[in-house]
Amino acid sequence: MKKLYYIDYPQEHIEGQMHKYRCVHCKVETTIINGRLEGHLPSCEYRIKLEKAGYEAEPVKSPEILVSHDADDFD
Ligand SMILES: [Zn+2]
Repeated sequence: MKKLYYIDYPQEHIEGQMHKYRCVHCKVETTIINGRLEGHLPSCEYRIKLEKAGYEAEPVKSPEILVSHDADDFD
């Protein structure tokens, strides 16, 4: 089960930094989380809650790997 974007987590303003917000639970900036469940720390309450509900965090895919991907190398 997956959502396109995980943006319904509680956020708080980062003090002293204009227009910067972070997850209330794991304190990771919203720009780093970028709508991804795996953007939260594995210990994040929000991430744990969604994983328990059946949502999956995907491993981060590097674009370079996708470009040079060669299916013939898989055995
Ligand atoms: Zn979080």
